[in-house]
Order: sequence, then C-alpha cells, then structure tokens
Amino acid sequence: MAKRRQLSTDEWVQGVLAGDRAILARAITLVESRNSVHRQQAQEVLQALLPHTGGARRIGLSGVPGVGKSTFIEAVGLKLCQAGHKVAVLAVDPSSQRRGGSILGDKTRMAELSVHQNAFIRPSPSGGTLGGVAAMTRETLLLMEAAGYDTVLVETVGVGQSETMVAEMTDFYLVLMLPGAGDDLQGIKKGVLEIADMVVVNKADGDTAVRARHAARDYEGALHMLALQDPDWPVPVQTCSAIEGTGLDELWDKVGEYFDKLGPMGRIKARRQRQQLHWMWALVDSGLKELLKQRAGELLNSTETAILADQITASAAAAKLLETLKKP
Ligand code: GDP
Repeated sequence: MAKRRQLSTDEWVQGVLAGDRAILARAITLVESRNSVHRQQAQEVLQALLPHTGGARRIGLSGVPGVGKSTFIEAVGLKLCQAGHKVAVLAVDPSSQRRGGSILGDKTRMAELSVHQNAFIRPSPSGGTLGGVAAMTRETLLLMEAAGYDTVLVETVGVGQSETMVAEMTDFYLVLMLPGAGDDLQGIKKGVLEIADMVVVNKADGDTAVRARHAARDYEGALHMLALQDPDWPVPVQTCSAIEGTGLDELWDKVGEYFDKLGPMGRIKARRQRQQLHWMWALVDSGLKELLKQRAGELLNSTETAILADQITASAAAAKLLETLKKP
C-alpha cells in the first residue's frame, strides 16, 4: 500500500475546518499517536483550531454494559441527524486498555447512525493509561467541534473512574439505568448520582415498563435523600424505551432545557473553565510524577524497598523523594 502523503499543519487545519471526514479521522489518529513528531504536529493543529472549538453541546453518557447505550445513542443520534444536527460519538472504554477485551469497541454497534452523513463515530483510543485516554478524548472532542459537530456524545461504561473522567470533560452528564436496579436503594451507586445531570431509566417497555417507573421513583427518592439537588437544576429522572423510541423526545427536550436555562446564567462556561483548570493541574501532577521518577532514579527503588521493610515511614520516604525535585 502506498504511504499516505504527510499533510502540512495548514492542510490539517483547513481539512478539519471544512469538515472533511477523511482528514478528520486521520487528525484523530494523529492526536492518538505516541510518536513524538506526530504529537508535536497534533499540538500545532489543535492550537490553530482552538478558536473554532467550544461550539458543541458536550454530553457525557454512561451506564452498565447491556443498559442500552448504543441503542439509545443510535435512536437519539438519528433523530438529531434527521433534524439537521451534526452528531459525533466518542467512546471512553476502560477495558480497551487491556489487550483483547473491549466493551465499547464492537463495530456492529450503532449500524445505522454510523453511516449517516451527519454522524461521526469514533471508538475509544486503546492502550495507555486512563489519563492518556482522557487526553486523547479531550483533544478529539476539540477536533470534532472544529469540524462543525454541534453535539458531541461521550460514552463510557459505568465503572468508577472513567465516569468521573467523562463528567470532567462534558457539559451535561446523563446516566442510563436499568429498570429494577432501583429495587435495592443500597445498590444505587451514590457516586454516579452525584455527577448525574439527568437519570434515565431505559427499557420502559413490555414486561419491564412498570419496573422502570418504580425504579425512576426510587432514583428520585435517592436524589432527594442525598440532598444533591441544585436549585437551578433539580436532576430530572426520566424513563424511555430506546428500542421503541418512546420518551426520547421528552428527555431530549429536557437536555435542551438545561442548556437554555444554565447557558445564559454562565454556568456552562464556568463548568468548562473549572474543568480546564482541573485538567491543567492533573497534567501538572502527572508531569511532576514523571519528572520525579526520572530524577530519583535508583533512589526510587531503594526507597520503595525501605518502605516495604518497615525501615522508613511513608512521609519520610515521600520527603526524601521530593527532595530530588529541589536539586537544580
Ligand atoms: P450497551 O451495552 O449499553 O450499549 O447496550 P445495547 O444498546 O447493546 O443493548 C443491550 C441489549 O438491550 C440489546 O439486546 C438491546 O436490544 C436491548 N435494549 C436496548 N434498549 C432497549 C429498550 O429500550 N428496551 C428493551 N426491551 N431492550 C433494549
């Protein structure tokens, strides 16, 4: 196969801005590359595109495997595309860091949406740390915005860290729940309710319709009990059937209400600013740790050994390692 010609930074930028899908896809690959030359160019491209970013509604979406995420995204995504929106779907798949397993990587997911001309679906970058995946996903999101996508859905599996990570890069966080899961309030993951901007109980159809409504009531109760309600945005709990398409218009209207109400109050902008600051500090933290590892060298091993042998306290060990950062 002939090697593809390398594009100049300007060609990348113009291609993405023109919404050229092939160039966009390659630009994402550039952003995901670990090659230092690619990384450098990716940063130049992103820097040039920055003024053209920020225009999308960034929506995070999570739920356990099988809750109906892909069915839901396909249904909602198609509605949006048919209404003239441009919809991008990105996945953050914690399992893709291990070789072999991938929960969100299945190519047959969202078959109809994936071929719609207004949609762009990108599977999770694989490999690396969760922090690395976060960086790539954030940058991909910016590329999507520069390419004119007005709705970016960032999807993840309902497991701890990746949920927080997605909530930290989106304006609105939607949690999909299974009917019946609310039977046991103990089983409700408090953490996820703390970051949810909307709770949606899917599969409100057929045999599970009644259970879905009960679950919705239980989630409402739980949100009250946890006193998590923001006076400007009491977290709505909705039911839907992604497969039958019922309840989707109503819940998407609610999502719109959030942006229409909180946007003019400056809340979305403030949320993004807060996220940027967090992100910067997260990068500083990991950068410092890297630097420390380089500087400390052999001291790192001997200090760890000393800790394991109970010869030194953790604080003394940390102080000793941090000392290496102070040396010129
Ligand atoms: P994901 O793993 O969260 O992406 O879930 P999928 O979208 O792949 O759905 C898992 C299973 O649930 C599939 O068999 C779907 O057909 C089914 N499913 C999804 N949405 C609904 C729904 O609204 N009602 C019912 N009854 N089944 C659904």
